[in-house]
Amino acid sequence: MIDVRNVKKIYKIGQNVLNALDGVSLTIEEGEFCCIVGRSGSGKSTLLNLMAGLEPVSSGQIIIANKHVEKMNERELILFRQQNVGFVFQSYNLIPSMTALENTALPLTFRGVKKSVRLKAAREMLEAVGVGSHYKHKPSQMSGGQQQRVGLARALVLNPKIVFADEPTGNLDSKTSSEMMTLITRIMHERNQTFVMVTHDPTMAQYADKVVHILDGKITSIEKNEHPMQFEAPAAREA
Ligand code: ADP
Repeated sequence: MIDVRNVKKIYKIGQNVLNALDGVSLTIEEGEFCCIVGRSGSGKSTLLNLMAGLEPVSSGQIIIANKHVEKMNERELILFRQQNVGFVFQSYNLIPSMTALENTALPLTFRGVKKSVRLKAAREMLEAVGVGSHYKHKPSQMSGGQQQRVGLARALVLNPKIVFADEPTGNLDSKTSSEMMTLITRIMHERNQTFVMVTHDPTMAQYADKVVHILDGKITSIEKNEHPMQFEAPAAREA
């Protein structure tokens, strides 16, 4: 699904040159949960942004679903992201004046889907992530965990092939974080979606199929996790 080949990213700040990514290669299979772990400043967010086509590479190739992302122009990138990619952010990035339902429906608005259809789809998505009863709430009327569930619903409402998440549990306590991770892994498995997450928290790696360690812009190791933490059982889900 994702093939990153010898990617470099150089930032020039005045006289200084910073190798934020220094020859990174990895592959991520369809339906796989890949966790990219490394301490702050190691290049994780840069790698995620390059894979999502949010920033251009300095050199190397990024091939997603057989398409070269690094060759796309701005218009092609916008279309590519709309058709293939969902995002979950650390700070949720919900629009404060909008309800949970309106926030979730937003990607459908950009796609020109008719109002009744998008509100129905958004309502179903909110149900699926466990905040269906909060659809009229504004972000300030919800807990961090609930807001992140809405963030997840918004990322998933277009049924993207790939979901990218940058520290999605970074603002959540440990109990809410593990609830969020079990929810995400269950939904990704059910829909066979590819999930790429970056985090500085090594405990998050237990949920992943593949764990990529990154340090100073280089991959130091890639581990396959044969027994990732199981997503919650159906009985637990109904409780
Ligand atoms: P991480 O996500 O692991 O914390 P980042 O990918 O954000 O790390 O950053 C990697 C390195 O690149 C850091 O040294 C950071 O300061 C630098 N960097 C990131 N974005 C920019 C930018 N837009 N301009 C200059 N330097 C940047």
